[in-house]
Amino acid sequence: MVIIQLTKRQEEIITIVKNQEPITGELIAESLQVTRAALRSDLVVLTMLGILDAKPKVGYFYIGQSQALKAANPFQETRVSDVMGVPLTVHQDISVYDVIVHIFMEDAGCAFIVDEQDYLCGVVSRKDLLKTSIGSNDLTKVPVGMIMTRMPNIATVEAGASLFTAAERLVTRQVDSLPVVQQDKSQAGKFKVVGKLSKTILSKLFLEIRE
Ligand code: ADP
Repeated sequence: MVIIQLTKRQEEIITIVKNQEPITGELIAESLQVTRAALRSDLVVLTMLGILDAKPKVGYFYIGQSQALKAANPFQETRVSDVMGVPLTVHQDISVYDVIVHIFMEDAGCAFIVDEQDYLCGVVSRKDLLKTSIGSNDLTKVPVGMIMTRMPNIATVEAGASLFTAAERLVTRQVDSLPVVQQDKSQAGKFKVVGKLSKTILSKLFLEIRE
């Protein structure tokens, strides 16, 4: 049998969730007086072990530690929403120059482009920006909308999808990052960007689990 040694912080999280379920990650972070980001890996571990369950927009529930030991595949339980990062989104009419500045300032690998109503309409990667930069263009005059990869050719993933779905999409579409989207219920084919799921996030998670 696998013996799982939880950290003091993870035990504290379990106690909070047991007493206050359903409880959001923000509230757990508040109770422990740390940031939501500082708790991310603990919450991921506890959901992957099956000790906690996370329901989008509701919060975390306690499931039980004995069941956790039976969890054969911790990755199976984790949803994209448990691990997704903050996306860099910019409007399609801003210049390529300004997108480059945003990418540096926010240390992002790519930018997701949105239209006037904030619906996803494109993606630019660093290589797209480099390609435009080696031409003889004045980058302050080229709108990013002119060089982006456009909808409907964007590979996306929903917040409730499994990490396997996301990883498979990243690999088969040969891209570094997927916008995590929520479909507009009243308009087919229109999506709001709620997060990002990148190869970097998955790699870091892989290491956190080993540790
Ligand atoms: P890089 O260009 O740095 O290798 P990517 O592999 O992510 O980065 O991007 C390769 C190409 O795919 C780029 O032209 C980019 O616009 C496009 N692209 C990036 N992400 C996506 C995505 N989620 N869906 C569709 N196309 C994408």
